[in-house]
Parts: sequence; structure tokens; C-alpha cells
Amino acid sequence: MLAAKIPKKETVIVVEEPKPVPGKGEVLIKMKASALCRSDLHRYHGTQIFDEDESAANITPGHEPCGIVDALGEGVENIKIGDRVAVYLGLGCGRCPHCLRGDVMLCSEFKCIGFEANGAHADYMTIPAENCLPLPDEMDYITGALATDVGGTLYTACKRIGLSGTQTVVIIGCGPMGSGGILIAKGFGARVIAVDTDEARLAMALDLGADEVINPIKEDGTARVKELTGGAGADAAIVTAGGNIPLNSALNSIRPRGTVALIAESNSATIDPSNQFVRTLIDLKGCWYFNRSDWEEISSFIMNKPIELKKICSSTYPISQAAEAFPLFDSGKVQKVVFTWDE
Ligand SMILES: [Zn+2]
Ligand SMILES: [Zn+2]
Repeated sequence: MLAAKIPKKETVIVVEEPKPVPGKGEVLIKMKASALCRSDLHRYHGTQIFDEDESAANITPGHEPCGIVDALGEGVENIKIGDRVAVYLGLGCGRCPHCLRGDVMLCSEFKCIGFEANGAHADYMTIPAENCLPLPDEMDYITGALATDVGGTLYTACKRIGLSGTQTVVIIGCGPMGSGGILIAKGFGARVIAVDTDEARLAMALDLGADEVINPIKEDGTARVKELTGGAGADAAIVTAGGNIPLNSALNSIRPRGTVALIAESNSATIDPSNQFVRTLIDLKGCWYFNRSDWEEISSFIMNKPIELKKICSSTYPISQAAEAFPLFDSGKVQKVVFTWDE
């Protein structure tokens, strides 16, 4: 089978390797769609976000997969060959309170497929049976892949900030996560103000349903949000761009008692606790992926609204062209790039 590897910085190769054999409690997935993610680019650029050693060069990237169950390991029940599934990215101990309640990424033994275990940018992968997320019959594979990290994370963020149809939410950053956020927040019925410095992304934000867009290079973004909300500030913000400015823009754009969901990863930021939190009673919520037991709710929401997640898929590639797909995605000129398999 073919598998993509990142043997060294900014180098992607596709290798032929043996099809993996599912062990006890595992299933073999024949891949149908596997989305590239900004966190893949940390491996691509050699700026790891998880603990990794040199053996990571042999690990297949890819953590947003969707496919068909192709073989069962010993002891697997409740899953059949031919089942259509998306894949949950977290591997945990299976026994701790976090694993038992489905927050696998909080497990002290958490490992992520595509980083510390072979991932999905390959013809096949093996995963524990409990990582199979059943795909609704009507959901296509690309939507299934996008419904995991993008759909699941943004749905969870919208729930964590208590978003509703009476509220205005500011979405900071209109890359793939922010764009997914626009679709999901509109699904919650909220009024959406999208913020980005790239005009092409803002045009797409409008196409995805954003009610207003702001380019903070051209105008004072915080002042514009206040103006659009009668001087009050937005009820909530979702931060999908990393670093100091996006987080501060969010904190400064919302009303007292508002809520900020922080999705973007970064290692430091400078804030003003007194003026941004203490005297505003603002809540800041960290949002990372989703609870495994929420999948049915997430996938139903996407199908029933419906949320057209596929609109954020800019390009598809066969896995054999992984070396071309990575630089295109890295250019930032596209939204999601997804590997697909026709057969
Ligand atoms: Zn991802
Ligand atoms: Zn655990």
C-alpha cells in the first residue's frame, strides 16, 4: 500500500509499505478521505506540537480520516466489515476518568494518530475499534473527514460558549477552522462577524454565510464590532488564529460577561487581566477537539441543518501526489486539502 511520510523538514515522500494487520481489538480501515490539517504542517516544518522522537519520521501523518472497515482483529464486536466510519484521533489508556467519559485527549497517556501512531495519509490504517465513528448513511466521505477535527471542534466550541440564535459571535481567522466555524455558528442560528486580514478569505466567509466581515488592516476591528453591535460588543468570539493579536482582538470585541472560545494553538500571549477579565467578567474557554461520545450529536447536526462542510474543501489529491498537496496547503492560499480514494 502507499503511505505518505515526512522523513525530514519540508520533505514529503510516498512509500510502498505492507498493509497493516489489525491486532486484538483493532480494525483495518480502507481509506476514502483524509484531510490535511494545520497541525500536519507542524510536522512538515519540524515544529512538533506533541512529544515526538526521531522515529516520528517513519510515522504516517493524517488525523482527519474517513473510510470503510476492511478487516477485524480478534475480539471486535459491534463493527462489521464494510461499515463506513470516520476516525477519532485520540488513543488513551481506556481506564482513567477522562477516557471513560470520552475526553480521550485529556488522558495522561494520550497519543494522537498521525503524530505518535500511524495516521491516515495512507491507503490503509489500523485503529482500536472504539475509535470508529459511525458515518450517517447520507454523509459522504469528504464531509465525514471534515466533520471530525473541523466539525467536531467547532461544534463543541459553539456549545461551550452557549451560542444561540439571539447572539452575535465574532470569528477571528477565516482559515479552515474559522470557515468551518462560520458554517457551524450559522447552524446554531447566530449572527456571525468574520475577521481576517486576507480579502480572499473574507470573500469566502461571506459565501459561507457570514453576516459581516472585517479586515483589521483596513479598519479598527474592535471599533467596527462595537459599531455593528450598537456599542455593546459581541456576545462571544471564537479564536482560530494563533498569537497575541487575535486573542486580544477577541477579548476586546466582546461585551461584559461574554465568552471567548480559544481554538488556535500558541505557546504565549500577553493579556490584560484587570481590564479584559476581572472588570468584564469575561469567560475564556479552551477548546480542543471533541468528546468521543458527542459524535452522534455532531454528525446529526451536520446532516440535519445541513452544514455544507464540503465547501471548505479547496482541492483533492490522490495519496500518490502527497508531495504536491503539502506545499499547496502550506501556501495558505487554499482552505482544506483532502486526499481521496476512488476505488
Ligand atoms: Zn486536524
Ligand atoms: Zn486514559
